[in-house]
Amino acid sequence: MDVCSDSVEAAAFLAKLSDADRHTVEQFRRFLRIPSTSSEGPKNGTYKRAAEFLNAYCIEVGLTSQIIELSPGLPIVLATLVGSKPELPTVLLNSHYDVVPVFEQYWKWLPFGAQMDGEGNIYARGTQDMKCVCIMYIEAMRALIAAQKAGAAKFDRTIHLSFMPDEELGGNGMQPFIKAGYVRVSSVCSDRLS
Ligand SMILES: [Zn+2]
Repeated sequence: MDVCSDSVEAAAFLAKLSDADRHTVEQFRRFLRIPSTSSEGPKNGTYKRAAEFLNAYCIEVGLTSQIIELSPGLPIVLATLVGSKPELPTVLLNSHYDVVPVFEQYWKWLPFGAQMDGEGNIYARGTQDMKCVCIMYIEAMRALIAAQKAGAAKFDRTIHLSFMPDEELGGNGMQPFIKAGYVRVSSVCSDRLS
């Protein structure tokens, strides 16, 4: 399932949003339509699609970003906003882009349709755990970059966003990432947010 058209009610809800908010919502829905299911993702290309989506989105908001593949088929996205004291240990805001499998017979909505009702509620596998957090982190960085451009003080510490594969299968993304030493971390925010 890819895109299905919005109901009249959902379209009316979207029309009430600002352009910036509508863009964020539509980015979230595009992300949800990538069926990056744990265990299937490395084989069917959906992990790659999710990683490429996030990498492009991070670049769009003004971050530097790269895709790192430490294990075949398990791409990690690492985006960075350099602080004013980059020698300090960094802050890492971690999230994962894989979702647990679906059993369609139990779903009233298309699991990867990202359909919206008239109140703006969005339905898809992974909305809560934890694709919403991926989007929030990226949009928070957009706001931070805009504030800095408008004269706000820069953060001392460099901030990284990391987006992991296979966290629903036990951390096959994060463990090799930490071992590889890409970031020198002083604090991590991760899955418990979702
Ligand atoms: Zn999770």
